[in-house]
Amino acid sequence: MPEAWDLEADVVVVGFGAAGACAALEAAAAGAQVLVLDRFTGGGATALSGGVVYAGGGTPQQREAGVQDSVEAMTGYLSVEVGDAVTAATVRQFCAGSVEMIGWLAGHGVPFAGSLCTQKTSYPTNRHYLYYSGSELSFRHIAEPAPRGHRVVGKGTSGKVLYARLAAAVKLAGVRLVPQSRAVRLVTDDQGRVTGVECQSMRSAPRWARASHRTLSTLGRKPFLYAGGLGRRCYQPVSWLELRYARPLRVGARSGVVLAAGGFVANRAMMREHAPAFRGGLALGTPGDDGSGIQLGVMAGGATRFLDRVSCWRFITPPVAFIRGVIVDKTGRRICDESRYGAAIGEAMVLRHERRGWLLLDKPLVSASWRQLRGSTLWFQFLQAGYLLTRARVSAATLAGVGAKAGVDSAGLEATVADYNAGAAAGQPDPTGKPADVIQPIGQPPYSLIDLSVRPRPAYPAPMLTLGGLVVAEDTGQVLRADGSPISGLYAAGRTAVGLCSNSYVSGLSLADCVFSGRRAGKHALAGQPAEQEASIQPGTERHS
Ligand SMILES: Cc1cc2nc3c(=O)[nH]c(=O)nc-3n(C[C@H](O)[C@H](O)[C@H](O)COP(=O)(O)OP(=O)(O)OC[C@H]3O[C@@H](n4cnc5c(N)ncnc54)[C@H](O)[C@@H]3O)c2cc1C
Repeated sequence: MPEAWDLEADVVVVGFGAAGACAALEAAAAGAQVLVLDRFTGGGATALSGGVVYAGGGTPQQREAGVQDSVEAMTGYLSVEVGDAVTAATVRQFCAGSVEMIGWLAGHGVPFAGSLCTQKTSYPTNRHYLYYSGSELSFRHIAEPAPRGHRVVGKGTSGKVLYARLAAAVKLAGVRLVPQSRAVRLVTDDQGRVTGVECQSMRSAPRWARASHRTLSTLGRKPFLYAGGLGRRCYQPVSWLELRYARPLRVGARSGVVLAAGGFVANRAMMREHAPAFRGGLALGTPGDDGSGIQLGVMAGGATRFLDRVSCWRFITPPVAFIRGVIVDKTGRRICDESRYGAAIGEAMVLRHERRGWLLLDKPLVSASWRQLRGSTLWFQFLQAGYLLTRARVSAATLAGVGAKAGVDSAGLEATVADYNAGAAAGQPDPTGKPADVIQPIGQPPYSLIDLSVRPRPAYPAPMLTLGGLVVAEDTGQVLRADGSPISGLYAAGRTAVGLCSNSYVSGLSLADCVFSGRRAGKHALAGQPAEQEASIQPGTERHS
């Protein structure tokens, strides 16, 4: 018997962030009638983000800035970060398509610029929109470095501009948005093909309830991001409204369903189960990052990977002088190359050094840091660096003294500094791989130790983002079972899926992957249908539900 749907479209997209918007745009461009569902009003983590998109290989912005880059150099560097998250062929395809991707975004109204920030920074100021957003300079022995962080043009954190432009393009493409509708179950036919989505929707709720749900969920985003506990309390009435007024809505998908509902950093139970070491951080996302997209795919038989991979941000720049210091653990041993991307420092701290770390600076480095603050920081970076240089810092005339004050083993610290200075004087390669041009002896007292440890601290939080998700076919974005067979009619993208950043995130790689994987899923949710049905309806590979 045919299903009775409340709404129907060729392609149904669950989640309206970057991945969902890009999937919708490509599906619509392929001629599909597209419907997008969102639990709230759309935007997700994308709208809160820094709007940095990782791109290279000679983009117009790189050329405008006089930057030399090539697909080979970009592939060489990214292969190290990506590891085995996706195949080498996919990394290559992503890099080779990078210039086109930036052009595609620009064609949909997303503004980029070639104003280059030459200094290492966690995020450029409003004068700069192209920068070294990963560990490119630290891996220059592997691949020619180039600045590839393309920050969308806009004041402050510019993810809001990225989302606004994509949302406008989606509207222009005639895609139907059904907001305030939470996907709770996938509907499958008797051959196991995903044919629709069951939601709990506020569509038929009283007007005041819909307005309150919309307003509170929008106003609660920033508190949720910056003040976890307060933010969670803001969402309690939102959940109550859903519980009280949301009603079932059945949405049919004639061709395919794309899950693009973000990650699971806001789901404490999933975090405890899959990434228990990453606690005490700030959830880098919205309450929509509750893992529901991943769980929907799992319920339909999808496999997951990399759920234990979390990006934990311990940015130390600006000021750039900080990378000339050394970061030690409580035994006084160095933990990593200090010039690496902030999440590489965070990972070393969380997974190998009991979540503790201190940055050692001497007098000239502290003075240089203070000087560099003006002009190289946005407000949140200024507050963070100011906090690190004051409240989080202890000083003493000797290494033993500063170690004792901070709770770092003094003998270990003295031995580390002696080795570091001897290596610097002899011009030997650094054991952590730190580039020679950012190594200088630590020799002039007073010495300072700045506490970088991962623990709940409003002035220096540890933002965290989940990287793993549903396993997908790399040529189509179709969700795969554990045996590698595709689930008919089901696709996933963005942080709901395994993607380019699932092993290691550097700034811009998540949004770039959302564009890459969202577009792929959107194209195939309609176009890949006939071949996929033939391939998947084989005895023993289909699960009936
Ligand atoms: C402050 C901040 C800064 C960041 N900066 C950057 C950066 O500069 N560059 C970068 O690459 N990455 C950055 N990130 C990470 C990046 O923003 C996210 O990884 C990315 O936006 C995820 O996009 P997405 O489309 O997968 O999910 P989202 O953008 O989160 O969208 C998912 C949508 O799905 C909806 N949804 C969830 N569950 C359901 C359901 N069951 N039913 C219906 N709808 C549902 C949500 O409401 C949401 O709107 C940043 C993140 C934050 C928070």
